[in-house]
Amino acid sequence: MSSLNMVYLCRTCFRKYGNFVDNLRLYVSGGSGGMGLPRLGGQGGKGGDVWVVAKKEVTLKRMKDKYPQKRFAGEVGANSRIQALKGEKGKDHELYAPVGITVTTDDGKLIGELNVDGDRVLVAKGGHGGAGFSGFHPSKGQSKHIRLDLKLISDFGLVGFPNAGKSSLLSATSHATPQIASYAFTTLRPQIGKLVYEDHKQISVADLPGLIEGAHLNKGMGHKFLKHVERTKQLMFVVDINGFQLASKTPFRSAFEAVQLLTKELELYKKELLSKQTLLVVNKMDLPDADDKLSELQEQLQNPHAFSHLLPEDMIPKKNMTFREVVPVSALTGFGIEHLKRCIRKTVDDDAAEETETFRQDRLQTLRRTMSSTPVWGHGPQH
Ligand code: GDP
Ligand code: MG
Repeated sequence: MSSLNMVYLCRTCFRKYGNFVDNLRLYVSGGSGGMGLPRLGGQGGKGGDVWVVAKKEVTLKRMKDKYPQKRFAGEVGANSRIQALKGEKGKDHELYAPVGITVTTDDGKLIGELNVDGDRVLVAKGGHGGAGFSGFHPSKGQSKHIRLDLKLISDFGLVGFPNAGKSSLLSATSHATPQIASYAFTTLRPQIGKLVYEDHKQISVADLPGLIEGAHLNKGMGHKFLKHVERTKQLMFVVDINGFQLASKTPFRSAFEAVQLLTKELELYKKELLSKQTLLVVNKMDLPDADDKLSELQEQLQNPHAFSHLLPEDMIPKKNMTFREVVPVSALTGFGIEHLKRCIRKTVDDDAAEETETFRQDRLQTLRRTMSSTPVWGHGPQH
């Protein structure tokens, strides 16, 4: 392809920052204990604990939307009374979180992991109820910031139909022999390749087994495949510029239709996946008429609605994917591979910078909140 064409492509890149949530910072506090009753030696109830409990349907994005305040507390223990000398324990707070996360303190110390549905981690203990040893005064519960981090298998996941050239692309971009990774929360093993940059920065790319139409219905590798897509930080859609046909019985699909079908499969499985940062890699640019087909694809991507009649209605995605960049390559000849590697590096760097900024803002907000609730012993207004 001519360099002129490359310039044209770079100008028409689509840029957007995704809002997929793969970590969340929360404030948790155990309930205070209840007051003891000195006169009769009564013991106050223990404060409720805070637990993080794994539940299949939950995602970090949903948690974030549901609890904008991100503060969770156990109940206060009951005071000791004449009618009930031993105060009742405050209720625990159970906070539902996704399966496959690590729970750490704000400074990264591991508290626990949630690997299967129902796993639970104690994050803040409730205080003691007041009793003889404490002069009948209760104690406060533990309180702290915690982080929930989705366990990721790689920085990037390759998403494409069989034969799009995913495996070839992985060998063309990464020098290392692909490693086999094994993760507790899934049975299938994706191949992980490492891209190594001049400054020794490494970026991992997972070659996931090919997606097929109907994967959301658990056809082919179906859900196993889609589960892996959840576990990669960013995505790389890979399509063959010539489109594909899975079997002689199934219809021929153009590159544009492949993009739409991949989008639809992800949408049907879990639409939050579509807010991940995604690059579109158009492979096999060495084949005849590839340049013309690429121009056509670009046009279709700019205005997908005008071309959606090409697919059956139930395969048209509700929302179209916004790609950070469309990168034409040939895994066979090496065309565009260096450019692709630069694009990959840039999106990872931008993403990391954005994450640091979010984390910083979060801390700042906490600090402001703390300061506004602390009395300031200053001078009065000066006249
Ligand atoms: P995967 O199923 O997505 O992993 O695809 P593969 O990497 O196994 O490639 C499928 C077929 O396409 C193989 O026969 C490759 O040799 C071929 N192929 C991959 N990349 C290119 C390319 O850039 N150009 C051409 N002409 N063929 C390619
Ligand atoms: Mg393959």
